[in-house]
Amino acid sequence: MTLRGAAIALGACAATLTRAALFSDRARLEAWQARRMRRWLRQTAGVEGLQDLPIMDRAALMAGFAAHNRLGLTAEAATAMAEGRAAPPPGHHVGLSTGTTSGVRMPYLISEAERFIWLGTILAKTLGLEALRRPRVAVALPRGSALYDAAGDGRALPLCFVSLGAGFSATLPALEGFAPDVLVAPPRYLGWLAGRRARLSPRRIYAAAEVLDPPERAAIRAGFPAARLGEIYMATEGLFAVSCGHGTLHLAEDRVHVELTEAGDGTLEPVVTDFTRRAQVMARYRTGDLVRLVSCPCGSPLRAVVVAGRVADRIGGIAPDVLRDAVLGAGARDFRLAQVGDETPVLTLPPGSETAGPRVALETLLGRAVTLQVARLAPPETTKLRRVMRSP
Ligand SMILES: [Zn+2]
Repeated sequence: MTLRGAAIALGACAATLTRAALFSDRARLEAWQARRMRRWLRQTAGVEGLQDLPIMDRAALMAGFAAHNRLGLTAEAATAMAEGRAAPPPGHHVGLSTGTTSGVRMPYLISEAERFIWLGTILAKTLGLEALRRPRVAVALPRGSALYDAAGDGRALPLCFVSLGAGFSATLPALEGFAPDVLVAPPRYLGWLAGRRARLSPRRIYAAAEVLDPPERAAIRAGFPAARLGEIYMATEGLFAVSCGHGTLHLAEDRVHVELTEAGDGTLEPVVTDFTRRAQVMARYRTGDLVRLVSCPCGSPLRAVVVAGRVADRIGGIAPDVLRDAVLGAGARDFRLAQVGDETPVLTLPPGSETAGPRVALETLLGRAVTLQVARLAPPETTKLRRVMRSP
């Protein structure tokens, strides 16, 4: 990391901490956000009000990519840059999302300054004032993350980025050698580390980029009993929420404006507008995620949520978290549930697992038969773990 990058990150970190202290109640937060939104909409999105912009999904964003970034890059040009076939514009980083349900990898454009602001914001939200004491932070994420490669010589901020692209075992020497105080990684990898009894003693662990399901939560707590466990809800499209000291996810409403649209079954789909980004306009972006509003005793004015899964992974109109809780609640240690189109859903349970209870619970919930199979279930090393998965 360059000194300038570190300075930007620390500045963003301090600003985030200051704002957190200032936003004593919801009204003050909303008034501040409305002012920032008005300015951003006028200067960056070129409109007067949010309602002047259409709600965008991934396909619309890809189709209109050139109109939504300051450099006028097409999706094809940006993809070529992200794949190393062309040089990115100076001072910018072009990456590709890891690709989830649709399989389409979406390019994104972020300026160097924005990348360090993102990093500083995450440090502030995860560590609070401790962030300014320069703890050793390791981030293990797939290559799609905009945070990736923001590391450097480590003098300004001791950061270590670990790629999961080469498999989990390949990461151990670098990670153990770095000895992080704080570890940010997908839950499937954290669960694997916990099971491997890795020689690590982080004080804080953050599950990121995937839903933190009960099996990983239990494994991480057992493997790292001294560490505080939290969550970061983020995607290549932005930083959406970070958990507080109580472990509850709070929307990052000091960075993104979040519209929560009804998605059925008690769930809401966040539609986000990132009013801190200028290189690429991310406005009214449909996340494709499902959340539920919850309450938190910490007193933060930022709304609290739990992530319930992906919109596209609903089976029979039922949200993935409800399906998960039914199967795990009926005694399964782990499972996968997959449906292709409208075919019979397939429930996979690990060998030696209780099978009758989970199957009955699921069939009752879905109102239809499911196919049961028994197979060893290992965490995927190069793709996201989705216990409930529906494909077209
Ligand atoms: Zn809280």
